Order: sequence, then structure tokens, then C-alpha cells
Amino acid sequence: MTGTGSTTLETLLPTSIVGSLPKPAWLARPEVLWSPWELQGDALVEGKHDALRAAVHEQRRRGIDIVSDGEQTRQHFVTTFIEHLDGVDFENRETVRIRDRYDASVPTVVGAVSRPKPVFVDDATFLRQQTDQPIKWALPGPMTMIDTLADRHYRSREKLAWEFATILNQEARELEAAGVDIIQFDEPAFNVFFDEMKDWGIAALERAVEGLSAETAVHICYGYGIKANNEWKATLGAEWRQYEESFPLLQRSSVDIISLESHHSHVPMDLIELIRGKKVMLGAIDVASEQVETPEEVADTLRRALEFVDAELLIASSNCGMAPLPRHVALDKLSALSAGARLVREELGA
Ligand SMILES: [Zn+2]
Repeated sequence: MTGTGSTTLETLLPTSIVGSLPKPAWLARPEVLWSPWELQGDALVEGKHDALRAAVHEQRRRGIDIVSDGEQTRQHFVTTFIEHLDGVDFENRETVRIRDRYDASVPTVVGAVSRPKPVFVDDATFLRQQTDQPIKWALPGPMTMIDTLADRHYRSREKLAWEFATILNQEARELEAAGVDIIQFDEPAFNVFFDEMKDWGIAALERAVEGLSAETAVHICYGYGIKANNEWKATLGAEWRQYEESFPLLQRSSVDIISLESHHSHVPMDLIELIRGKKVMLGAIDVASEQVETPEEVADTLRRALEFVDAELLIASSNCGMAPLPRHVALDKLSALSAGARLVREELGA
């Protein structure tokens, strides 16, 4: 392992998490999204680093192969990135509908958007120093970014998404240079806005990954296990076929890894046939339940996936971020994930 962006994993069925882990209570209030920091100034910087170190330690101790930062240095997977950009006014807020599901007070785009300096590159460099394992860094996808903003400048979702894709590509290139092995874009909006996804969403994602030599991933899900999402999921019926819209396009895209939710969801497993040839990062841990999976339950989900994906291309993961869960539950779920993957690995004779 070189730790210079070209790390290869020799483990069959490597394990990973989608993104966030709960933060320690001394850093931010647990079990809520957008939780304000408990520290300030230099103490906050040091606290974020300590939390990131702890997140790496727990992932390794519990058998996670592809290591993430657990999003310990950011308040929210979309908002924190946008906060670092010029052209967005956080004082000037409007109420908009997020992913057609719930109303939220969001900042407003008031001028041309740009990235005056790198957003996560220092944090990624710090993560790189903590481990020789492959590391993965998550960024919001362009379509999901525009969906959490009001726009008084471009007045075009497509134009704004294109600007964000260009900015994300700059950030991704610098993350790659900092030694990140896998750069992931979170696009839950791909499960909601099908027409826009087809018209320009996939193209914007391609713009974001352009020219990268690091592996690239896109994560598409049904959201955190919060009330508004759980209520929306209850309306989706017995079979969730939303991935059917994006998967054929992603199969032909240049993105290397497709991250999807599966365990306890109503997504028919055979839909992953639609991304044949891509690496599949399969959610085998439910993030909407505090019940910790047994290794056997995880193994069962992975086994069912192996009917539609080659073992060499399967990565065992969580369904989504785990920020809203109690910390001990999230950590125990990491252990369950790696124990389940180990069971299947043994069956495959690896
Ligand atoms: Zn997700």
C-alpha cells in the first residue's frame, strides 16, 4: 500500500461506510443533524482532528478496509461544502422543499459561485496521515447541492449545477493529489428528479469526475433515517424501483463505483444487474434502525447480491450515513458489517 492515490485492495469483499459517523458528544450534540459545535477556535480544530483520529481507529479496530473521515470535521454533508463558497449568502435564507419531501430554511445564491480556497483538502491530508489503508472522501453531488439552495442569480438549476460541478472537480483533483484513493459524490437527488437527472444531472456528475485518476463513486440512497425520510419511504410502495432510472445511465458513465442501499430496503436486488461491470458498494447495514444487524443478516444480503455482481466487484457498506445514530450503535454496526463480509469471504474460499 503506497497511500498515494493508487492503493489497491487485495481483500475480497472489502468493507466501507458511506460517509458520516456520529460525532463524540464533546464535539457536537449527538443524534441530530446540523448540530452546532461544542468547541470554538483552536480547541475546535483540535477537537475535530481528535474525533477524526477516533473515527479512523474505530473503523480499523472493527475491520473496515476502506477508511473514511466519518465526516467528523463537517456539520453536514452538503451545507459545509457550500459554506466555503463565494456567491452564497447564508444570512439571506428562504424556505424551499428539499428533494420534494420537507421544507427547510436554506441559504440563497446571490452571485457567481466560486471556491476561493480548498474546502476539505487539509482534512483529507490529515486523514491520509492516519492510515495506510485506502481512503475514501465524500463530496456532495452537483444536483443535491442545488436542491438545498434558493437561487436568485442563475435562475437555472442546470446552470448552477454546472458551476458546482466545475468547483467540485477542482476540489476532487486536490483531494486526489492529497492521496485520496476514492472520491465519492453523494447524489440522493438522483432518486427523486428523474427528468433533470437524465437531462443534465448525469452530465454534471461526469463534469465533476472529469480527468480524475482516483477511483470515483456515486452514492444514491433514500436518505438518513430521519422522520421526513421514513415517512416518504412509507409512500413508495412494496417495490422501490427508483434506481431503474439512474442505473442504465450510470452503467455507461465513467464513474467506477455505484453505492446503493439494500439491507431492509424494498429495492429489488436484481436492479444491480443494470450496473453490470461497475463496482457495487452495497448497503448491508440499515441506518434507519438502532437494531444492530447480526453478521448472518449482513452475510445474507451480500450473498443475495452475489447473484447479480461478481465477487471481485462487490464492496460491503452501510445504506447511508450514520450521523443520527447513537454512537455505540453505529460502531457496533461497523463490527457487524465486517463480520458479515468475513463470513461470505470464507464461503468464497478467500
Ligand atoms: Zn445516503
